[in-house]
Amino acid sequence: WNQLTSPLFGMFSIIGGFSTSLVSVDKLVDLLLTKPTVFDKENAKPLEIRDGGMVEFRNVSFSYNKKPILKNFNLTIKAGSKVAFVGESGGGKSTILRLLARKYDVDDGAVLIDGQDVRDVTQTSLRDIVGIVPQNPFIFDTTIFKNVEYGRLGASMEDIEDACRKAAIHDQIESFTDKYETHVGESGAKISGGELQRIAIARAILRNPSIVLLDEATNAVDTITEKKIKVALDALCEGKTSIAIAHRLATIQNFEKICVLSEGNIIEEGTHEELLAKKGKYHEMWYSDFFVKTKTEDEEDKGSKD
Ligand code: ADP
Ligand code: MG
Repeated sequence: WNQLTSPLFGMFSIIGGFSTSLVSVDKLVDLLLTKPTVFDKENAKPLEIRDGGMVEFRNVSFSYNKKPILKNFNLTIKAGSKVAFVGESGGGKSTILRLLARKYDVDDGAVLIDGQDVRDVTQTSLRDIVGIVPQNPFIFDTTIFKNVEYGRLGASMEDIEDACRKAAIHDQIESFTDKYETHVGESGAKISGGELQRIAIARAILRNPSIVLLDEATNAVDTITEKKIKVALDALCEGKTSIAIAHRLATIQNFEKICVLSEGNIIEEGTHEELLAKKGKYHEMWYSDFFVKTKTEDEEDKGSKD
């Protein structure tokens, strides 16, 4: 994710996209000064949630430096519904989320939120409304409290604890000697990948965006951690338009719509049951995922799948 493109970005929107997830404040300042790729129009208006956050990709075409990724891509996501993308790596899943968050502009067609073209609204308002939980959450080398607070600067301790409870991480934080004052990273406690992920989710819950975009991490976690992450994500997505890229198919089993993406095209779509009944790509993935999962549980949290 090339998200660090404008000094105007809210703290949350700059979270992510790094192979290293721990970033010092100095480095952050450097990154904030990087050149932007998209600009506000002179007459840009704030994005308004008018119909609960309906998302529409209308005949979208997009390439990275002439490498076509999407061609006449169409998809409507009803307000408040949950849609997931699954499929092979390189299929264009993350690109779809990037276009919705307007990290890049489409070459053709339009991306709309409640009927408003994302190119016509201010980036600040777009980032308030569209919250992203990226694959590699951006964690600062500071306290847990501050890491969550970046979701909404100035939030009270009560709100931060509440977000952490919903993200199924509060009890764990309370078990650390320094509790919310525990330092994350080099200078602090050893915090596992699953915990960091839930801290990032707590941050997003605190931010409370109307539309949630989720790029699930691919690292293997044990079954208990996986369940906690699912609880956290369900709390975050509750009542919101949610678009998730899932690597663990169990995470999105209850989504209204699952789209299997291949080379920029939706090759299958439906509910988990409908897709299993089709005995196509999803069916194949579900059973190979099951295989990977069974193996992973034996190995217990030994690291990343990719
Ligand atoms: P997925 O999330 O499904 O793995 P992506 O949307 O990340 O797929 O990528 C789709 C294709 O676009 C891949 O072939 C990838 O290599 C390419 N791609 C992704 N980001 C960039 C970029 N910033 N510049 C050039 N090519 C990119
Ligand atoms: Mg991706």
